[in-house]
Amino acid sequence: MKRTPVIHVGEDEFLLYNPVSKVVDVVDSDVVTALESGTLPPDMREYLERHGHLTMSDDEAEAWLKEECYRSHATLADSPAYYIIPTYNCNMRCIYCYEKDLRREPKIMSSRTVEQVFSLVESRLVDTIILYGGEPFQKGTKPVIEQIARLSRETGCRLSACTNGLELLDSEPLFDYFSEIIVTLDGVEPVQNFRRPSVGGPSFSTVIRSIERVIETGTPVTISVNADAQNVESLPELADFFIEKGWHTHPSVHIAVSHILQPLDRTYPYMLEPKDAAQKMVELHQNYPSMELFQESFKGLNPLVNVFFKGEEWRPRYWYCRANCYMLLFDPYNYLYPCYMVVGRPSFAVGRFSDTIEESPSMAAWRERTCFTIPQCRECALGCFCGGGCAYRQYRRSGSFSDPYCDTVEALITYYVPFLYEKVKERGDRL
Ligand code: SF4
Ligand code: SF4
Repeated sequence: MKRTPVIHVGEDEFLLYNPVSKVVDVVDSDVVTALESGTLPPDMREYLERHGHLTMSDDEAEAWLKEECYRSHATLADSPAYYIIPTYNCNMRCIYCYEKDLRREPKIMSSRTVEQVFSLVESRLVDTIILYGGEPFQKGTKPVIEQIARLSRETGCRLSACTNGLELLDSEPLFDYFSEIIVTLDGVEPVQNFRRPSVGGPSFSTVIRSIERVIETGTPVTISVNADAQNVESLPELADFFIEKGWHTHPSVHIAVSHILQPLDRTYPYMLEPKDAAQKMVELHQNYPSMELFQESFKGLNPLVNVFFKGEEWRPRYWYCRANCYMLLFDPYNYLYPCYMVVGRPSFAVGRFSDTIEESPSMAAWRERTCFTIPQCRECALGCFCGGGCAYRQYRRSGSFSDPYCDTVEALITYYVPFLYEKVKERGDRL
């Protein structure tokens, strides 16, 4: 039972799940106590075995899970997602920008460098290209975006883009090349204008016009909301705005909330740590029914919640995020980065690229970070639920990539999972 965590979700209700059989059950405190003491009465043992628990010894389960981790890691690493940063330059001035020192850089990725990225795409079974920045859609980047769009189509890659929406409509003739456009909007007018002004002033109406137009063209759009202590209280108002627009039920619109992280070398004053963010989000959901439209965001936070809501099989999380497996960001200077938060800092580059990739030894610290390689996670019951936590956040905290970052999973099991479990019960859904 070493890797079988128990999550307290109700007065005398505990989720018990088994990463080998992928079974989730609700049990009471008698079962939990018996499991902890290792003295299970025969009828309890028979019940748990029948439900797919207690199927292997701890050693057998550990070996099985490790094998499974390496197998799925190898499979996913074989088809990486390439993020292309056409420029670090940006036409917005967000208060939380973690690329502040870079956003005035004029350099744009050369046509030759784009060709190099796509020669790697062809040789490495890449099927996903994501435009990232800086801001990818600007006047000066147009030729390079056209080239990337054309080459993505020629190589059969799915193309998407993260954008602030300011100059997006100048590229409307290219929308057809995109399977998704992700536009960031942090709040209603005063909130967005305070947090995400353009170089020339307010941004709200321009960004709204961009979102509306993307929707009209039928291109799938994700509205990405960045939340922190500065704007979290205004999320219900934003939810009402989305409802007024009819975006919450529009089939091609997806809405996602994420939380701002501390930049590498500065302290951002409105930071919300994971537990505070989770507590606040749950509180808002309890008080404002319209917040329901943001619920997908924390359903997506952990695979167990998909089990509640979608009847999916629970897939263990052996590593935390794509930076630990298949994400690679290509910048205009031919540097490679593993994570959004460290781009533009050559000391964090994990290699260089030309027609080939030259990995540096630091790649291993990111790619080999799993719940089997971090010493504390090897002994942790939550290991295959948590995956070791965010490497970047932990590096920022302790200066080491081999320490665990437990805060996110603690926020999940303390706030999100019990809240969602209650929701499921209220609706009389599964479990
Ligand atoms: S990061 Fe912390 S909670 Fe997550 S598996 Fe490692 S030790 Fe456990
Ligand atoms: S390591 Fe952390 S900051 Fe970087 S991509 Fe993963 S979750 Fe995001």
